Amino acid sequence: MAKILAITNQKGGVGKTTTTVNLAASLAAMKKRVLLVDLDPQGNGTMGSGIEKRDLTATVYHLLLGSKTLPEVRQHSVVGKYDVLPANRELAGAEIEMVDLQQRETRLRDALQTVMEEYDYILIDCPPALNLLTLNGLCAARSVMIPMQCEYYALEGLSDLVNTIRKVRAHLNPHLEIEGLLRTMFDPRNALAQQVSEQLQQHFGEKVYRTVVPRNVRLAEAPSYGLPVLYHDKASKGSQAYLALAGELLNNSAQ
Ligand code: ATP
Ligand code: MG
Repeated sequence: MAKILAITNQKGGVGKTTTTVNLAASLAAMKKRVLLVDLDPQGNGTMGSGIEKRDLTATVYHLLLGSKTLPEVRQHSVVGKYDVLPANRELAGAEIEMVDLQQRETRLRDALQTVMEEYDYILIDCPPALNLLTLNGLCAARSVMIPMQCEYYALEGLSDLVNTIRKVRAHLNPHLEIEGLLRTMFDPRNALAQQVSEQLQQHFGEKVYRTVVPRNVRLAEAPSYGLPVLYHDKASKGSQAYLALAGELLNNSAQ
């Protein structure tokens, strides 16, 4: 049965999409069956998987509103070797249109039920907000991966996210756990980054992944070619970091 992970942080630009795309490609390269769910109207995860978001006639928007089925929405990322439930700007409307629907927080969870046996991992790329789309991600997931930059305000934002996870656990999804915190765009020469990193480890201990994703230009370039970094420059530090993260995830799952 699939392990469902929401990749979330309400702070923008911390590396959620980069992590989702490159973790999906790394797990797929390790022969795992992976589905990437793009829950962000920006559609960056869709484009980064080599799928043109402007050409789509069926997206996560239609899935959430119930006007299309999962097989109708699903695409295959040929470059990444995983499946994708893609998104584009139309998804921004879903938030308002879902308000009057029954069980609006659990629509993604319900849609994914039908494919739980087809995948080993389902990775959900959430938008930078604690909105109804993100709530759908948190209700569908078994655990949350939190990418974060080790900056001054990072810890403050983290407490809002941890509180939201607590509320979701209390009211909507009792099984939800924090899978781990991932340090992204890390620069070891930066003293503040080192300091925040230490504080993170003090607060969250084992929940902080050993893998650290360095700031790496190959990671930033890869989406402009519509490629995961593994197929853009496998030897790069960024590519190696996401392969290591996939290994760490597999190890944690095996325990
Ligand atoms: P949003 O909140 O807008 O969805 P995000 O959290 O998904 O953003 P990304 O889109 O993954 O963040 O990353 C933000 C920017 O930083 C992108 O231009 C991306 O290419 C770049 N980036 C992400 N990770 C790294 C890294 N480790 N090294 C260098 N650049 C990176
Ligand atoms: Mg993103």
